Amino acid sequence: MSTLVSQLTEVVGDAGILTGKALAGRSAGIWSGEALKALALVRPKSTEEVSAVLKICHQARQSVIPAGGMTGLVGGHESGDTDIVLSLERMNSIESCDPRSRTMVVEAGTILQTIQEKASDAGLMFPLDLGARASCTIGGNIATNAGGVRVLRYGMTRDLVLGLEVVLADGTVVSSMFDMLKNNTGYDLKQWFVGSEGTLGVVTRAVLRLYEAPIATETALLAVPSWEDVMGLLRHFDGVLAGGLVAFEVLWRNHYELNTGPYSELEPPLSESAPYYVLIDVFISDAKQGRENLEALLMQCLEENKIVDGALASSETERLKFWQIRENFEPEQNKFDTICGYDVSLPIEAMEKYVEAVETNLISQFPDAELYAYGHIGDGNLHFSIYPGVAKDFDVVNKIIYGPLKDLNGSVSAEHGIGLEKKAYLSLTRSETEIDLMRRMKMMMDPNGILNPGKLFDLVED
Ligand SMILES: Cc1cc2nc3c(=O)[nH]c(=O)nc-3n(C[C@H](O)[C@H](O)[C@H](O)COP(=O)(O)OP(=O)(O)OC[C@H]3O[C@@H](n4cnc5c(N)ncnc54)[C@H](O)[C@@H]3O)c2cc1C
Repeated sequence: MSTLVSQLTEVVGDAGILTGKALAGRSAGIWSGEALKALALVRPKSTEEVSAVLKICHQARQSVIPAGGMTGLVGGHESGDTDIVLSLERMNSIESCDPRSRTMVVEAGTILQTIQEKASDAGLMFPLDLGARASCTIGGNIATNAGGVRVLRYGMTRDLVLGLEVVLADGTVVSSMFDMLKNNTGYDLKQWFVGSEGTLGVVTRAVLRLYEAPIATETALLAVPSWEDVMGLLRHFDGVLAGGLVAFEVLWRNHYELNTGPYSELEPPLSESAPYYVLIDVFISDAKQGRENLEALLMQCLEENKIVDGALASSETERLKFWQIRENFEPEQNKFDTICGYDVSLPIEAMEKYVEAVETNLISQFPDAELYAYGHIGDGNLHFSIYPGVAKDFDVVNKIIYGPLKDLNGSVSAEHGIGLEKKAYLSLTRSETEIDLMRRMKMMMDPNGILNPGKLFDLVED
């Protein structure tokens, strides 16, 4: 056993560290068929242990990869044979849930869905919600500043974190566990770590902001005849529903058809076909009246030809089925063997032409490629899945997709982050001055460069 591994074992105990053959049963991530690569997987049980582990690694200049649920989509948690993977999986307690202050104090390894359920049991809601809810951790959500399906109404993860505890690379514990909404006392240090993808510190605990739970949630699926109408509906609903519109997702026609066709177990809920399908969630405060109002609103949209068809979910089961049409990737996996996913943001008014141009350019290079577009369009966030035939030529596809974004003032990552996969394209969205400042922050906070090295950007330019 190496000196480093025995030092770490002293801190976390035998049950807190896995090496060699014991690692074989651990997967490298939700999409990965491979075993986890690491010198050791270290699983501390407390902030003190995280601090002691990092202190040892800092002194030994040992690379450390923080890991949560490993659902990240940009290779941010990727590790190699010589890395220490620092998993927060044993730090998964909910320390408190206070309905008066509407806050929850959690350890970083707590699974998002567990937090949602705990809030719900207290008659409250933690609004962050994403497809990986059953596996991702709040620490990973914070480190990636996760978005999800309710950003339109509640903001991204950074808007839901009131306080944070972080351990710096040298083991220093920074506790900013404030639990009030307002705190204008200098730099908002916690925000340095939100979205820092494990490169500046390890998140160990957080104070989360909770909201009152809605009385009921209504979900509607609408077939929309044009992009003009998609944009019009977003503004119209956001206005007349007075803050009740919490999700506005759009599926391009082929995505809807794939997810309700022969490769899927789901039946198409609408009889009319259209170029776009809009899925909305609306929170209402009066179950009966709220539903009637929504029915009337959708009827009016139908009469005015803003939609060609629509269905309001009639039960919780149907509501979840509508969401599965958006979130379920099994039909893609059934039809294609390679998945290549993208996550960009750009002004909503530019989206229609952008998607058309990407598709045309893609097919001119890869005639058998199929492009599926969908996303959190209410937030200007577009996702692409591209199949098949492009797997060997990611650089070409990346250029087709990311190339136009600079001129559109868009972003190469709306919510998944940069990790390893988008590192080469960071400068399309961030200026040299901004990247230089990020590098200086990294060098100040992690002078030995041990935390998630090589992720987000390289410390030295090529
Ligand atoms: C089906 C599916 C749907 C998804 N939908 C969305 C979506 O709608 N919106 C969205 O934003 N993302 C989405 N994602 C991506 C992913 O779920 C998020 O990025 C999530 O926040 C990652 O959490 P995790 O615990 O799995 O983190 P990991 O994947 O383990 O890690 C992600 C990054 O955070 C770092 N990290 C993890 N924990 C800590 C910690 N405690 N301290 C410091 N750094 C840490 C890691 O080093 C890595 O860089 C989706 C993924 C899947 C598989």
